[in-house]
Amino acid sequence: MLSAVGQIPDCFPAQPGDFTKRAFYAGKMDLTAVEGLADLLSAETEAQRKQALLQMEGHLGKLYNEWAQTLVKCMAHVEAYIDFSEDDNIEDGVLESVEKKLKVLAEEMKSHMSDERRGEILRSGVQVSIVGEPNVGKSSLLNTLAQRPAAIVTSQAGTTRDLVRVSMDLGGFPVQLCDTAGLREASDEVEKEGIHRAKAAAAKADLVLLVASAPLLPKVPLEQALQNYLKTCGLSINLKDCIVVLNKSDLIPDKIQELPENVILTSCESGEGISQLLSVLQNRLTSLCGDPSRECPTITQARHRTYLETCLEYLHEYQRSLEAEQDLVIAAEQLRQALRHLGMLTGKVSTEQLLDLVFSEFCIGK
Ligand code: GDP
Repeated sequence: MLSAVGQIPDCFPAQPGDFTKRAFYAGKMDLTAVEGLADLLSAETEAQRKQALLQMEGHLGKLYNEWAQTLVKCMAHVEAYIDFSEDDNIEDGVLESVEKKLKVLAEEMKSHMSDERRGEILRSGVQVSIVGEPNVGKSSLLNTLAQRPAAIVTSQAGTTRDLVRVSMDLGGFPVQLCDTAGLREASDEVEKEGIHRAKAAAAKADLVLLVASAPLLPKVPLEQALQNYLKTCGLSINLKDCIVVLNKSDLIPDKIQELPENVILTSCESGEGISQLLSVLQNRLTSLCGDPSRECPTITQARHRTYLETCLEYLHEYQRSLEAEQDLVIAAEQLRQALRHLGMLTGKVSTEQLLDLVFSEFCIGK
């Protein structure tokens, strides 16, 4: 059938993304919805699917469009002021009311952006690095969590040298678990490079699982022992941001009592503490990725953040121009630029039609 259809002039097979492209050009989908659809197709976990679906349904685009509409109205008012104020034919307080609206808009944008990159982390997967001294059970932990022997486990120190990565779905959240070389003073060149990579992986990770051997922990207050452990490992990370795994609990006769919320006693041998570790991990993942909703659509790509930051910068620039009593015509250009960058988010760069629309509704002359 396809070959028969192919004989008809002007008929050709659809290219990848052709239907979506047409939907975009026909105005049925905006750019964020298109991105949402692409994310939905490549989503691997439930939380990713939920976020992508919300974006595809247009919730993020709707928010940006509302902001664009507000900006268009503000611009129309400013331009009207430029054109008509001298004839005193325009209502009072136009510029002041624009200023108020822009302040509210800037606040909304700022709070939308102060999201600790939750949407982006959820979209690309949470990077979790397992770090600690050699032989404490890092590879065993990776294998236990991944439920398969992904990394080699031996009693010989310094087995893991390169990073061993495993992708997994933890309670609906995408996780990239990374086993690293044991941290110690090494003389071997290969091991040195492994340690360098391990430290870099810890610094870059969204979450660090710091593994220590419970039986080797010195008998000093826990906080102090762990701070010393971080130093011995040569890690400059905050203890509070890590989940600390005190492994090999099967080898200590007396269980440590009253551990802080982020410190878990586990045994990869007996399985003790693993379910508790999973539930603490799940809580951290929930706060790292957030819970995308219709009411609070999240930024999911660096592209969104870049345009929003530029837009906000132009809004501030407008404010600064007014304060410096610059020509309003020049200040208004800052607003136009702000709108242009918002438009790039949704793919609607042309604003002339919208301006016409608002102008036609605008009350000029009393
Ligand atoms: P890594 O070097 O930190 O990655 O540690 P490995 O996972 O390779 O484990 C080092 C050794 O400790 C191996 O012989 C493991 O079998 C052993 N091991 C790991 N976890 C436990 C545990 O919870 N209890 C006991 N008794 N041994 C463990």
